[in-house]
Amino acid sequence: MKIFDTIQDLVANFAIVTAYLFLLNQVIFRNHTLDSPATTSMKVRMGLVAGLLGIVLMIFTVRMNGTLVDFRQLAIIIAAMYGGILPSVIAGTIIFLMRLLAFGAVTAPTIIAAGNTVLVAILVGVICMSRLSFWRKWIISLIICNLTTTIVFLLNIGRDSLLPILTYVTMMTAGGLFTAYLNEFLNKAKAQLKKIEREATIDYLTGLNNHRTFDEIYNSYLQTASDKDECLSIALVDIDFFKKVNDNYGHGNGDLVLKQLGEVLMKTTRSFDTVSRNGGEEFSVIMYDTPHKHALQIAERLRHAVSKNHFLLNNGRSIPLTVSIGVATYPDTNREELLDQADSALYQAKTSGRNVVCSNQAN
Ligand code: GH3
Ligand code: MG
Ligand code: MG
Repeated sequence: MKIFDTIQDLVANFAIVTAYLFLLNQVIFRNHTLDSPATTSMKVRMGLVAGLLGIVLMIFTVRMNGTLVDFRQLAIIIAAMYGGILPSVIAGTIIFLMRLLAFGAVTAPTIIAAGNTVLVAILVGVICMSRLSFWRKWIISLIICNLTTTIVFLLNIGRDSLLPILTYVTMMTAGGLFTAYLNEFLNKAKAQLKKIEREATIDYLTGLNNHRTFDEIYNSYLQTASDKDECLSIALVDIDFFKKVNDNYGHGNGDLVLKQLGEVLMKTTRSFDTVSRNGGEEFSVIMYDTPHKHALQIAERLRHAVSKNHFLLNNGRSIPLTVSIGVATYPDTNREELLDQADSALYQAKTSGRNVVCSNQAN
């Protein structure tokens, strides 16, 4: 039965597009969403894989009402949606060449049909680079595909083209909407996952590592330092009398101050130091391959920078702030005691008057 052949072909095509979108989103471009800018090399790779998809779709032609139609234009729209005109033109060119070189004799109608692919690639590429919404881009792209392919049918088969045109337009519209829906779903799922991953590792207020990330980095660096016989210093930083900031200026201003302290810590440390908010008004700096003496100098620089900074409140006024810091270093202090020893040094800084850096080692 012909209808079963058609259904079989359509199912195969939808399965190919679904598998392709899954691979594209979850494997090849895991970290890229529709909203994030793509690099040129990424765009080239997108064009190449979309070209491959176009070839596969041409192989899996759909037999319908005695006409052969395929979804190759979908590969071009997907490429354009993800990276604009560069990947769509690369995909269009690959499909154009394959259509001429590998799919039957080169005749005027095949040249027109193949040329249409390049034209669609350019038009859709331009549309997808505009600021239109996701669905508008898809719908305009589908209209472009349907219009240009209708013209190709009219040029190639003239009067007998009504049925093929109807078949193509119906199939392309249904297939296109299905692909757009799937694309949107996968992108939303990916963005959601990224957000959850980010929230699980980053402190929402300061944007620094949270305690969980601190723990992971701390343990992994400590292991590396032990394996490579290198040193690792840790500085625990605690704001002095922070409760008074909350009591005098409100919790909102307390939050503002915490945020600004995070910025001061980031600015004052080196790019390879790891700054975290360990909780409340307690921060830490992990300094890899940094001997104790050098770590004390960095901690002193931090303390000084904080004491010189003006912390802005939401009424435009600014207040001074100080921190106390405790420093300990591996392997001078053993792995198991390192954090406790940094904490003891911090306690010592608090009890000796605050706004100082203390070491856990006797001078
Ligand atoms: P010390 O010099 O001994 O460290 O005194 P302190 O007041 O800084 O320390 P204490 O532990 O008594 O108070 C810490 C305060 O930090 C109490 C708590 O309300 C505040 N705090 C903790 N987390 C947050 C936060 O996310 N936002 C704000 N605004 N305040 C916080
Ligand atoms: Mg404090
Ligand atoms: Mg504290």
